[in-house]
Amino acid sequence: MSKRNGIKINHQLYIDDLKLYAANEEQLLRELKIVASFTETIKMEMGLDKCAVLHIKRGKITSGEAMLVQDNLKIQNLGPEETYKYLGIQQGLEIKTAETKAKFEDKFMGRLKKILQSKLNARSIFTSINLKAIDTQMRVLLTKYGMHHPHASTNRLYVPIKDGGRGLQNIESTHHKVVKDMREYFLSSNLPFFKALCEEDNNITPLNMVSRIQPPEPPNINELSAVWHGKALHGRYPTALERNEIDKERSLNYLKAGYLFPETEGRLAAIQDQVVSTRAYQRSILKKDIPSDRCRKCSRTMETIQHITSSCPTLAPREYTDRHNALAKAYHQAIAIKNGLIKEHSKIHQYLPKEILENNEVKLYWDHPLITDRPILHNRPDIVVFLKEERRVIIVDITVPADDNAERAYTEKIIKYHDLAFELKEIYKLTSTSILLLVITTNGLVEKHLLENTNRLGLDEGLIGDAQKEVILWTTRIVRRFLTSS
Ligand SMILES: [Zn+2]
Repeated sequence: MSKRNGIKINHQLYIDDLKLYAANEEQLLRELKIVASFTETIKMEMGLDKCAVLHIKRGKITSGEAMLVQDNLKIQNLGPEETYKYLGIQQGLEIKTAETKAKFEDKFMGRLKKILQSKLNARSIFTSINLKAIDTQMRVLLTKYGMHHPHASTNRLYVPIKDGGRGLQNIESTHHKVVKDMREYFLSSNLPFFKALCEEDNNITPLNMVSRIQPPEPPNINELSAVWHGKALHGRYPTALERNEIDKERSLNYLKAGYLFPETEGRLAAIQDQVVSTRAYQRSILKKDIPSDRCRKCSRTMETIQHITSSCPTLAPREYTDRHNALAKAYHQAIAIKNGLIKEHSKIHQYLPKEILENNEVKLYWDHPLITDRPILHNRPDIVVFLKEERRVIIVDITVPADDNAERAYTEKIIKYHDLAFELKEIYKLTSTSILLLVITTNGLVEKHLLENTNRLGLDEGLIGDAQKEVILWTTRIVRRFLTSS
């Protein structure tokens, strides 16, 4: 630093890292004695193994002597090729930028691999990585470990979880923010030392404070998010997420809760971004020359991801029913426990609902045809709760539609059970009947009435998350099995 500002630097002190500057050895020794005596007064100890002396003559490091401050205080000498750590950064006469970067990269990538090899769940992995990252290499690794499909939306990785993204920190924008904040900090200060620094930093540090121009901004989260929404394939899920009939906050439960295996979350993101290797995708996006893009199971229509997850007639009787039943069973079990009809909680795949459960207060039906005087087309809802005392019946039906079909599915089902509700009210002289539709879409979007309906059944809100988990695990399972079949 030039002397024109009349500024002298004789030390820098950051928390507990202290660097002393002196014109010669005698002066340095005097400074060190002050530090030693001060250190003793406040009953601290100098970490001598981490201290070093650097002798410089005419801008070059020379091999001087170790310094004996007092009897038990000897500080080693740092040779020309050696570096030491100041504020965690390797330095000698200057900061070794290239070396520091290489070491950082090595260490970072090594840590990232360790994290990916550990069997953490998806949420914890992204939290661990967020410290810092090297974006491209990191995505390559994420892909290698199955957490990020190569054609899935890159932008989505960096969109916050609350907006349906995967909440990964982008190092480019992190770096930009740090540079911007530090520039502001130094440039706005009135301290002579800071002012001198600002005048000297002509491209010496990334802050480049001599320049009055702010460094160019990388794309921000809103822009990333807009691009993700705008893409024809990638945009379908985020667009559905914003629809009125969708409870966005609860739809993103699974990302917030972070219980999925990393590979499962990666697979689900690929399904939502529609980059799964279906025949339609292979032909129209990958431009592969394949004999047919019709569904390998039913041959009726194009094999798209929507077809596989929600409308293949071959999958309907088994796969879709299993998924539907998993959601229905989660609710049936919760209702049965709440009303004292069963005691033990079982895992959903082991839970076999009884067709009728009954005690003095409640009668609970599972997939049971209800007898009416007048024949009724739809007389077999998934669940019926008969509250004896109040003479009330709650008809509960479950549906798992495609993402953009939640509203229609909801209304259609309500209409479907109108006749039954009316007949039951007449026959059993009920005070009221209600029809509660429980809707979660194939990709786990929660229909907006689900919270209210869960409350009306007297059940805990947490059940929505459990139910959603069943649905998305089934969807990823259906897709995986479909693609590995011929
Ligand atoms: Zn099909």
